[in-house]
Amino acid sequence: MNLQKLGEEAYRLGDLAHDYAKSIYNLSEKCLMAHSIRSVQQFLEDKGKGKHWISIMMASSERYLGRRALAFIQPNQTEIFVDSHVELDHQRRGIAHELGHLLFVKFNNSVPPSPMRIDPLMEDVCKTFEKDLCKRHHVFYCNQENLKRLLFQTLDDYPTPTD
Ligand SMILES: [Zn+2]
Repeated sequence: MNLQKLGEEAYRLGDLAHDYAKSIYNLSEKCLMAHSIRSVQQFLEDKGKGKHWISIMMASSERYLGRRALAFIQPNQTEIFVDSHVELDHQRRGIAHELGHLLFVKFNNSVPPSPMRIDPLMEDVCKTFEKDLCKRHHVFYCNQENLKRLLFQTLDDYPTPTD
């Protein structure tokens, strides 16, 4: 490859890097409990339950009886379907609630949630988990010192992306 071609290729890949960063950031901004999901996976593995993959799927509400979210829990993976029509706040709380179900299935032999069956006791327990987890998140991000930890002090001289 000659020098000019090499320069063009560097530009092209540089543009791609910007595009990827923008697309990925726009998705991550929705913040659908990604840190909590990874943490539950790590907790399960640390506590001897092995690798467990948790995925999030957007779904229309009618299929899931008007729930914010519903988890299909299998031995090594869980799919959490989230109602695409409810507010982001409720989507995130719904995911937190389903993560609670997963923990109680794995550690307390609770029966996995299903569209057909509602166990009022487990619903209450997972409501407690949901509120507690989300409140901890809320309090964490309300603290200025914590926010500083999440910013990148090493990027001061890097230009701010404009679009
Ligand atoms: Zn539930």
